[in-house]
Amino acid sequence: MTVAKEALRDGRGREVSYLRLSVTDRCNLSCLYCRPKDRISFIPHNDILRYEELLDLVSLGREMGISKVRLTGGEPFARKDVMVLVESIRRRFPEMDLRLTTNATLLAGKPALLAELGVTAVNISCDTLDREKYARITGCDRLDLVRRAIDESLAAGLRVKINAVALRGVNTDEIPAFVRLATDAPLDVRFIEFMPVGDGNLWKPENYIAAKDVLSLAVRAAELVPEENGHIAGGPARMYRIAGGLGRFGVISPLSEHFCDACNRLRITSDGKLRTCLFSDREYRLRPLLRNPKLGLRKVREVIALALRTKPLGYEVLNPGAVPEARNMSAIGG
Ligand code: SAM
Repeated sequence: MTVAKEALRDGRGREVSYLRLSVTDRCNLSCLYCRPKDRISFIPHNDILRYEELLDLVSLGREMGISKVRLTGGEPFARKDVMVLVESIRRRFPEMDLRLTTNATLLAGKPALLAELGVTAVNISCDTLDREKYARITGCDRLDLVRRAIDESLAAGLRVKINAVALRGVNTDEIPAFVRLATDAPLDVRFIEFMPVGDGNLWKPENYIAAKDVLSLAVRAAELVPEENGHIAGGPARMYRIAGGLGRFGVISPLSEHFCDACNRLRITSDGKLRTCLFSDREYRLRPLLRNPKLGLRKVREVIALALRTKPLGYEVLNPGAVPEARNMSAIGG
């Protein structure tokens, strides 16, 4: 199979090189802002893409021009044998930039192998450094496991990014503590604006805080030096070095200062639906094609190409305060 020579582009000329693959909609946490407990219903097992199907999609993606794959969920480590999938992707696609997004509660014991497999980075979701608050936000008292996994990941030499959803009145008082974390350890902390995505989402204007306001709280704790190119290497985060520190602090501002013009992403949900924009509920069903021997990857390729022609601009879909979407973040993969 040959790797695409030309970049994959959408109908607006944006280069598309990044695939977020959700490997499960199940999660061992039920974060207030993501999948509140009383709203949970799971996708039936048979409807979840099998590992061979995920590998086929990565293979097709690579052929079409995808160079970066992120495994997400639900909680990727809540899926049985996900390390086998990581290993298979690495074996079949050695050049692929492979990353994971995880809540890290099931990560301890795995970072060394992930590093050995050449996983580029782990994004670890952790919204608070306070044990009781963590239990309130996530429904589980597991902050100690997360802290252990962070330490192990750093010790294994993995690049670590901590993602915290900025929740006004919930964790904004901890911004200085997060700045200290990134001062003392060589990791990135990124505060993400709370997005009104998902039907059980508790998004309220009172809980929302814009990235610029997060930054103004952070600069009270340390001197922040903007990275030269602001948004790092095509990523959505605006990062700052911490003077005298080992790590960096940054913000991701999908609402207040969107980055849709540079969006390079495709998402595939764990039940095999292609989404070209986080904020649009428009989905393309790939699973029936994948499972039909007469159609298979050839048809999937056609559908991806077609869907890309109308990949939306998220900010045109989502007006501030608009009706939240039908799928929860845990089912989309963030
Ligand atoms: N379970 C994994 C984890 O916790 O990282 C992966 C899935 S989770 C849905 C992916 C990311 O989406 C997490 O960083 C989470 O904090 C973020 N997220 C979920 N709901 C969100 C919301 N309403 N606004 C902003 N970020 C959200």
